Amino acid sequence: MQDASLPRPALLGIDLGTTNSLIAVWQDGQARLIPNALGEVLTPSVVSLDDDDTILVGKAARARLTTHPERTAAAFKRFMGSDRQIELASRHFSPQELSALVLGSLKQDAEAFLGHPVSEAVISVPAYFSDEQRKRTLFAAELAGLSVTRLINEPTAAAMAYGLHEQKFERTLIFDLGGGTFDVTVLEYALPLIEVHASTGDNFLGGEDFTAALLQACLKHWQLTPSLIDAQSMASLCDALEQLKCKLGEGTQQLSWRHADRSFEWSLDEAAAVKIWEPLLARLRAPIEQALRDARLKPRDLDNLVLVGGATRMPAVQQMVATLFGRLPYRHLDPDTIVALGAATQAACKARDGAVEELILTDVCPYTLGISTMRGEGIKGAFSPIIERNTIIPTSRVERYHTTSSRQEVIRIAVYQGERPWVRDNIFIDAFDVTLTPSDHIQALDVRFSYDINGLLEVDVTLLETGERHSHSIDRSPTGLDAQSRQASHERLSSLKIHPRDTLPNRTLLARLERAWTQSLGEERQRIADWLESFTTVLGGQRSDEIAGHRSQLNKVLDELRL
Ligand code: AMP
Repeated sequence: MQDASLPRPALLGIDLGTTNSLIAVWQDGQARLIPNALGEVLTPSVVSLDDDDTILVGKAARARLTTHPERTAAAFKRFMGSDRQIELASRHFSPQELSALVLGSLKQDAEAFLGHPVSEAVISVPAYFSDEQRKRTLFAAELAGLSVTRLINEPTAAAMAYGLHEQKFERTLIFDLGGGTFDVTVLEYALPLIEVHASTGDNFLGGEDFTAALLQACLKHWQLTPSLIDAQSMASLCDALEQLKCKLGEGTQQLSWRHADRSFEWSLDEAAAVKIWEPLLARLRAPIEQALRDARLKPRDLDNLVLVGGATRMPAVQQMVATLFGRLPYRHLDPDTIVALGAATQAACKARDGAVEELILTDVCPYTLGISTMRGEGIKGAFSPIIERNTIIPTSRVERYHTTSSRQEVIRIAVYQGERPWVRDNIFIDAFDVTLTPSDHIQALDVRFSYDINGLLEVDVTLLETGERHSHSIDRSPTGLDAQSRQASHERLSSLKIHPRDTLPNRTLLARLERAWTQSLGEERQRIADWLESFTTVLGGQRSDEIAGHRSQLNKVLDELRL
């Protein structure tokens, strides 16, 4: 029981995004966004190793993507769950280590805002994240010194925030397109109950792919080979294309880029962009159709459509959704912040905090989980589902299997996730062996899958003949990594120096000015060089009021120039 004299832990919700991350707190009966050291609520999920080898996270790091691409990493959430190593100036980091640095920065912001240490949070993940990806997210939190009270699916978090605003009974489809992932969730509000009926998605489709498609198209237009472009020029082109993509709704955009002493120009309007994006827009349709089919609904049965995620700001995406459903989506809540607000709302629900005590949420397992079996006479590798997709969670399901011969001494339980009939086409999760007691006949065994509300799986095998039970929590460690690599991650991160939070606003402005200088030419470049010099001089004077005044003036000018 909790000691009444101790302060209650802060009710925090974190949206750990591919492009941006946010942290919110439940306070005085509502979810509030917490500002970072720059006073902004969106912290770019970008990590950079500064010139003095300190770690920079957020806007300063994002500015360095252009000026120091070899020391900077972005969009690493896309590799979460893989063994990919990301190199920053010859140091190697895993996606979960980089995510831990982002979480650590959000944790610092929350501590500065609340005035006391924080240790736990609800963290959102894409609904379609696999078991492995969820475990690595938990490990990232552990590395950042946060215990996770719950992993919540991003569209479900959005549904919670939205549910508090619209107290109506409605069948809603949540269309969540972030920087790197796409989720579709169909749910029903019967307040206080929010019931998720179906969740599907694509873990490798997001706004970044739309930028990548523009990159391919313009390089093709200029007849340039990507491998012959140096990292810094490429980073500057990607940056310019990202900005162009975000401004397409305002009309035709011109792009100028310099490379190898040549100037390149490209002009693009919305219609031409839609042509380039056709294959990506088509890929958005399949998960929508599957979610509706699984929820046994037709588009006309939906009462509402909600867009979540920064990439739903693209007119091309809004247009596609409006055409598919024959109606305009609901856009009253900010698609960038709704997930973090929902995660904090979930933290409050879990803690049974006043205003949300009544909200009850049921979620589903978005993919089918099963094991590899033999089909017919010796055809190996058939996928036998145990928990079917869109089963309400938590759930526990059991299926009975038999050995294939009486002489069998061992049975291998290989667990897969996916929707295809053969395991080779699905995602391998884990495998383990169960030793059988010798017998002269075919033996039966029950395989039970238990899937919890965080989306984590446990497997139990019971041999019917002896009653012997083998319990296997997938991956043995709760994080999907062995003890040695976990320890190595802890050591690697604790040896890093993090850039002091209080000097981040100055460091960020310097990084922005350097980026602006790289991106501009001629007179504009000269003007930026003058600003860089004047700000460096003011910094040298160490007068905090003067520094703050100069900084806010220059930030304003850069904002106006969109640099
Ligand atoms: P999120 O992961 O939800 O922060 O979404 C990030 C993605 O949204 C990135 O791919 C951004 O390029 C994209 N995005 C943000 N704002 C806009 C905008 N105004 N127009 C087009 N895409 C945007």
